[in-house]
Amino acid sequence: MYSHLFFDLDRTLWDFETNSYETLTEIIDRYELLKKGLKDIDLFVKEYYIINDKLWEEYRVGTIDKETLRYERFRRALLKYAITDNSLIMHIGNDYVNLSPVKTNLIPYAKEVLSYLSKKYELYIITNGFEEVQHIKLKESGIEHYFIDVITSERAGCKKPDVRIFDYSMKLANARAKTSLMIGDCLVADIGGARNAGIHQVFFNPNSIEHNANVTYEIKSLNELKKIV
Ligand SMILES: [Mg+2]
Repeated sequence: MYSHLFFDLDRTLWDFETNSYETLTEIIDRYELLKKGLKDIDLFVKEYYIINDKLWEEYRVGTIDKETLRYERFRRALLKYAITDNSLIMHIGNDYVNLSPVKTNLIPYAKEVLSYLSKKYELYIITNGFEEVQHIKLKESGIEHYFIDVITSERAGCKKPDVRIFDYSMKLANARAKTSLMIGDCLVADIGGARNAGIHQVFFNPNSIEHNANVTYEIKSLNELKKIV
């Protein structure tokens, strides 16, 4: 039934939470932030995620640019602890962008499932992540060779859930909507976007969040993909 599978990367294949946590703890250590006012690593990480998600949403809809996102998320997260040294925040922002993509933790079963699927289907990535970052993540975590191409929003000129990025991807892959499948963890960007483009969707929902969206398939583990395609 399907010939082309389009995957989201962050939180669908690449374990964003674990990789991000490792990076943040390294940065906290490197700049001795616990001596500069930070109280608790886990609490800070939690606060950072909330700020980061909010700013990513702003980036996605286009109200802020990439540089603002990279600086502002740390400025806001550290402000609570009265850490306001601009140069320090700049260094931290840059370090995060350099250190995080070389982290290699993947979502459980990612490699096994990609290995299995790549023998039967043409695999592509569609991501809103940054061009220079996403390729490093794929390469370092050892899954780049499973994909024919990586379509970033920067390259497509628009971001998920914009229908145009799905049309762009299908054109590039020489794929039809009817025989394409989009797999992702975000109901808005991945699932809603694919649905609007006429593509069937697999909602990867490892934490079983409640929703009433209309999705073609829903899975809790990547391993379940083998049963769908
Ligand atoms: Mg994602």
